[in-house]
Amino acid sequence: MSEAGLAFDGVSAAYRGATVLHEVDLTVDRGELLVVLGPSGAGKSTVLRVAAGLEPVTAGRVRIAGRDVTTARPGRRNVSMVFQSYALFPHLTVAENIAFGLEVRDTPRAVARERARTAAETVGCAGLLDRRPGQLSGGERQRVALARALVREPDVFLLDEPLSNLDLTLRVEMRAELRALHDRLGATMVHVTHDQTEALVLADRIAVLRDGRIEQVGTPEEIWRAPASTFVARFVGSPAMNLLPAGGPVHPTGAAPPATADDDLQLGFRPEAVTLDAAEGAAATVDRVEVVGEDAYAYLTLAGGQPVVARVPASRRPGRGSAVRVGVRWADVHVFHAGSGRRYRPS
Ligand code: ATP
Repeated sequence: MSEAGLAFDGVSAAYRGATVLHEVDLTVDRGELLVVLGPSGAGKSTVLRVAAGLEPVTAGRVRIAGRDVTTARPGRRNVSMVFQSYALFPHLTVAENIAFGLEVRDTPRAVARERARTAAETVGCAGLLDRRPGQLSGGERQRVALARALVREPDVFLLDEPLSNLDLTLRVEMRAELRALHDRLGATMVHVTHDQTEALVLADRIAVLRDGRIEQVGTPEEIWRAPASTFVARFVGSPAMNLLPAGGPVHPTGAAPPATADDDLQLGFRPEAVTLDAAEGAAATVDRVEVVGEDAYAYLTLAGGQPVVARVPASRRPGRGSAVRVGVRWADVHVFHAGSGRRYRPS
């Protein structure tokens, strides 16, 4: 078996005595692009900071490329971090910024410059080498920050929301470029984001983090098709998956999964799984409709007061205030334990 690019074994970390990572187990394969996804405050940046050696662990071990680096200083870990703010030196040129990481490591100046130029070519900013950061657009700064990470030829790239300062068009463009760069280099990358779409399109695997704990690790398809908990189910997908108590107003049709009647369960189904004209469907009223191009999102309230969102073709959207009948098929339903929120697996 090949060595992991980065491994956390039971890693905990704390700020001023308050634990923010709880016994995190996480393995990033060599050459893998793993996205750490979670809401603000979940501990995503802390995962990167611990990997980089910028924060100490309070328990557990950290390994990089087969070496135990738990107590190693940042400079001895051979990782490169790219920050959301890019953290470029304003008084240095692009070439100097990129070469900076090497020069402080006693690389001869001419060699550093040459490697900086090669890194700049790799990320498409070779035409900017003589400019200063103040003379660059956000996307260009982002490329320079990537080149600076690249030039050090690290074992692991740690990317902390590097796309979040870009406008939407550029973000979509840069995210494709980042993925292509990863594939070209065969690099091990850990990319942090709170953007579920970014995670789904970019990742080989996603680790969903919640309150300093790993909620689920899986491929984008696994996370989407078999969310391990109601938290993952609702965090990934927009609008969020509907959740209703089993035995409530919505009765799914088709073959039901085996389930024990005495379990307290919740049913989850995505807006696109909802039909509004089901003959035996649950009565609901349309509160509001949002049209997004070809699609429309209908926000409904069931007779019992529970909210449900449905995605329908914009051309067949119901009117506000109209009465509809909500249906869903068992094949599209995710079942969760009501108490723990974990995915239900009948024994
Ligand atoms: P965001 O998406 O908002 O950047 P995050 O998931 O990256 O959030 P972290 O920055 O890792 O989360 O923070 C995790 C927790 O640790 C939060 O509750 C935060 O308030 C706390 N925290 C982070 N840095 C410090 C610090 N220097 N001192 C004290 N608490 C901190």
